[in-house]
Amino acid sequence: MKMYIGGEWVDSSSGELIEKHDPSTGRVIEKFPSATRQDVDRAMDSAEESWEKWYELGSVKRSRILYRAIELIAGSRKELEKILVTENGKVPVQAAEEVDGVIDQIQYYAEFARKIYGEIVEGDSFERKIFQYKVPYGVVVAMTPWNFPAGMVARKLAPALLTGNSVILKPSSDTPLSAEWIVRKFLDAGVPKGVLNLITGRGSEIGDYMVSHPKVSLITMTGSTETGQRIMEHASRNMSKLILELGGKAPFMIWKDADLGNAIKSLVWAKFWNSGQSCIAAERLYVHEEIYDSFMKRFVEVTKRLKVGDPSKSDMGPLINRNALETTESFVEGARSEGMKVLYGGKRPKLDDPFKDGYFYEPTIIADAGSGSRLFTDEIFGPVIGAAKVSDPDDLIREANSSRYGLASYLFTRDHELIFKASEKIRFGELYVNMPGPEASQGYHTGFRLTGQAGEGSRHGVEEYLKLKNVYVDYSGAELHVESIREDLF
Ligand code: NAP
Repeated sequence: MKMYIGGEWVDSSSGELIEKHDPSTGRVIEKFPSATRQDVDRAMDSAEESWEKWYELGSVKRSRILYRAIELIAGSRKELEKILVTENGKVPVQAAEEVDGVIDQIQYYAEFARKIYGEIVEGDSFERKIFQYKVPYGVVVAMTPWNFPAGMVARKLAPALLTGNSVILKPSSDTPLSAEWIVRKFLDAGVPKGVLNLITGRGSEIGDYMVSHPKVSLITMTGSTETGQRIMEHASRNMSKLILELGGKAPFMIWKDADLGNAIKSLVWAKFWNSGQSCIAAERLYVHEEIYDSFMKRFVEVTKRLKVGDPSKSDMGPLINRNALETTESFVEGARSEGMKVLYGGKRPKLDDPFKDGYFYEPTIIADAGSGSRLFTDEIFGPVIGAAKVSDPDDLIREANSSRYGLASYLFTRDHELIFKASEKIRFGELYVNMPGPEASQGYHTGFRLTGQAGEGSRHGVEEYLKLKNVYVDYSGAELHVESIREDLF
């Protein structure tokens, strides 16, 4: 694959390539360029030179290009689905779901073309007005993760472009192929040269340089909290605006009066969807003590039926890479060494060729997890969950809120008092009551604490890409009297 800089498909100026592996087999499936600082500079120059003309095209014309991109994506969506299966290890039904999400996101943002409003505010006298314009930031750097590699690209490109910014996209080094495919569709749809640039390469090598580049005005990154913190430090150099969608540690709360059929369906989805590699994945299970034993028995029975292996024929594919597999294993080993009981899973499945070297892990359920244990404090990002008993609603909410992260949370109950109390007290950007996720385009995807800054989706997400600027006008034509400056000076 190639990068796209200044309107041309190019290799890295160093010629260096990085190998991309299929997580199901561990085999190399592609090589992609490792960008240099020189490549980044060229992308910055072209993005800076092009955004103003793009902005002046107007939002309606820009949205037509987005609608055209949707047609092109929908028309060859099977290609993208296939890429998601091979580069990420997604099972086909979830790859298709992600492509639905890509289309939905672009459409949602395109619909804002006629809904970008400034304001006119009365000044301190009637003939003075303050015009508040919403204008693009200019050059946007977008860093995307590998877990929803197409969805996250769409969620950043669509609002950034619709609002008249230019973009330099740097996808995860684990999933550059779907990003390249989507960029091609936007270009074929008519995004002008220079407005959209694609840089590939390791974030650890070029990330700091990109985010501290003087031409950058806005950085949008979805990824880990550690990367977000690092970006925040480097972005301080230019005071760049930040949209940071970071880690999660979602509590999944089941009260004694819950509809357990619905709770278990939602839990299996929230934990094992995308092999547990989702920022809104259930990471801590709290079950009312009166139903704990029977619920856990049922949860294990259902989980045993999940098929893990060849993504094309299974319910759960591999983890993204060896590092993710080893991290997941370390959580389970840690829980075992702390005396917690593994009710199901807890190892790599034995698979035949070509999947024997893939990064697979069994869906794993751990009972009686301690609230201070690493299993309950750190993001696992794999198909493993620990469970704890609860009996008091205030304790439940306190335990749920005890995380350093604050993205998604789930509550299953018919108790309306508990629902309202949790809605008020929960310190998470999202609370799903009696339903699974994921978030909708019209919701504002955001988090508390280490989950980050700002958010995506809804009109608030569109506004993140627009800067409010003020123009003060006096149209009275009257002679000015400037308070605090002596009149006899003039
Ligand atoms: P990551 O390692 O932090 O990487 C995210 C992106 O940042 C990648 O493109 C990465 O490039 C780049 N990057 C790495 N170092 C950088 C640096 N110093 N400067 C600038 N960019 C840099 O995260 P991930 O492993 O891909 O994704 C998993 C994490 O994402 C989880 O923590 C998950 O919770 C979070 N996530 C959050 C949301 C949300 O909406 N809140 C959604 C999805 C995922 P390389 O790949 O080249 O390193």
